[in-house]
Amino acid sequence: MAHIQLLNADSMRRALSRIAHEIVERSGSPDGLALVGIRTRGWHLAERLAHRITQIEGWQLPSYALDVSAFRDDRGHIVRGKNGEKASWFTAEDLFTQRYKEVPEWLEQRAVEGRRVILIDDVLFTGRTVRAALDALSRYSRPAVIQLAVLVDRGHRELPIRPDYVGKNVPTARDERISVKVLEVDSEDGVWLYKH
Ligand code: 5GP
Ligand code: MG
Repeated sequence: MAHIQLLNADSMRRALSRIAHEIVERSGSPDGLALVGIRTRGWHLAERLAHRITQIEGWQLPSYALDVSAFRDDRGHIVRGKNGEKASWFTAEDLFTQRYKEVPEWLEQRAVEGRRVILIDDVLFTGRTVRAALDALSRYSRPAVIQLAVLVDRGHRELPIRPDYVGKNVPTARDERISVKVLEVDSEDGVWLYKH
């Protein structure tokens, strides 16, 4: 599969730095600001943005990690019977009880109540992950504002969701893939587009 590099470590750092400046400029003050990064890579990007914002402006912003896999509306779950014999299909809505076991403490303790939340993810595609994140946040608290920052917007939205801060807009075909690597988990930084 052919691939082309869209961002290297330097251009990725600059894109994040620009987003950090934009967040500072549009937010005006650190009052009530909180970053929420979508696991896994969105959370590392949130940590980096928080760090950069501290360097730029001295603001110390809280950042929280959110795992939204249990909140997705397009993923059922296969549950096996006691003897592993039969598979049943449940929609995410059926998993009400199960998903609530996975709720992070900060969400349960309503750490973002009334706050100006910036949600952060690596790639924005259909928008279903962001919808799930909004669902998770709003089940527990009522943030004053929620904005969205993504490193890559690859298009193909299926919901009325748009990012407020974008590292790079990348027109893609539906079956292409973006690879985002972050130092913290992939031992290098960069963004690649995989074409057929
Ligand atoms: P969506 O829910 O908007 O369809 O997809 C966004 C979520 O799936 C993000 O959390 C992102 O990490 C992942 N994702 C979707 N498409 C891609 C892609 O092309 N590359 C990568 N690295 N992640 C993707
Ligand atoms: Mg993701």
